[in-house]
Amino acid sequence: MLAVVPPPVTVRVPAKVNLHLACGDLREDGYHDLTTLFQALSLTDEVTVAVAEEPGVEVHGEGAAQVPAGPENLAWKAVRALAAHVGRDPDAPGVRVTINKGIPVAGGMAGGSADAAATLVGLAALWRLEIGRDELSTIAAELGSDVPFVLQGGTALGTGRGEQLVPVLARHTYHWVIALDREGLSTPTVFRELDRLRAEGNPPRIGAVEPVLEALASGDPRQLALLLGNDLQAAAVSLRPGLRRTLRAGVNAGALAGIVSGSGPTCAFLCTDADSAVRVAAELSGAGVCRTVRVAQGPVAGARVVTDDSAR
Ligand code: ATP
Repeated sequence: MLAVVPPPVTVRVPAKVNLHLACGDLREDGYHDLTTLFQALSLTDEVTVAVAEEPGVEVHGEGAAQVPAGPENLAWKAVRALAAHVGRDPDAPGVRVTINKGIPVAGGMAGGSADAAATLVGLAALWRLEIGRDELSTIAAELGSDVPFVLQGGTALGTGRGEQLVPVLARHTYHWVIALDREGLSTPTVFRELDRLRAEGNPPRIGAVEPVLEALASGDPRQLALLLGNDLQAAAVSLRPGLRRTLRAGVNAGALAGIVSGSGPTCAFLCTDADSAVRVAAELSGAGVCRTVRVAQGPVAGARVVTDDSAR
């Protein structure tokens, strides 16, 4: 009897920006305790999983050449992790993962984590697994600190390494301009630079998270703009001094505030509304301070299946 081959499943998954990223001192296990507020943005990757005779990963789109297509790809690690969790042989039948990148690579926006989260959701559908979001989230946390958040989406408070999440109510849609740099920055290098700066002196640390939560609840982007903060920003700017100019250019172009996203080098600018974001993006792209700009809004949903059933 011929086995029925399930149709491919496509999942859309968002990037993240950290509205607040407070970084504790280096722990003995090499990690830092983080208190962070994530927001999912409408800058997305699309990941398709399909049963295939030639298993593997292929990567297309934004920065694809810098993404490994072998077993080091986080999406492939997700295939292995989910298969092990449910006791399934990942090679029988094999799986092909096709990634279309819209999220900048090594940009501090959780691009690799997004592909891992999307692969978990896609495979759960392809393999028709009875598996809840909480269980997927546990596997996600083993793959990386940011993976549970891009799985969940919305706005959330993350603690631990950032993987312990509590959803946060954000009533408002926030409008962002995202400035992509010419080259990525490695996350571990940025953390090491922060440790070095702290060993040398006492770089200022951002304040408590509570006022940021209140600003989010108020829905006023002006209030939120005053409170955006990232302890990794000083380290990213130390490694890439040109970011200072980018941050200034965004504010001069009319943004309420600018911040380095996570470990950078991508910069995110909060704007008053959608029209203002379009104007800021146009002016910033003419200022010659970054490779390219995008307009995005948040919060948006986490990884979700977008396969068009009507097309089958
Ligand atoms: P984060 O914000 O989570 O610290 P990032 O957005 O700065 O991460 P990524 O785009 O996730 O960075 O890429 C970091 C590195 O991970 C890249 O240099 C790349 O070699 C590797 N990588 C592995 N799998 C992927 C993937 N699917 N997409 C992008 N990068 C990947």
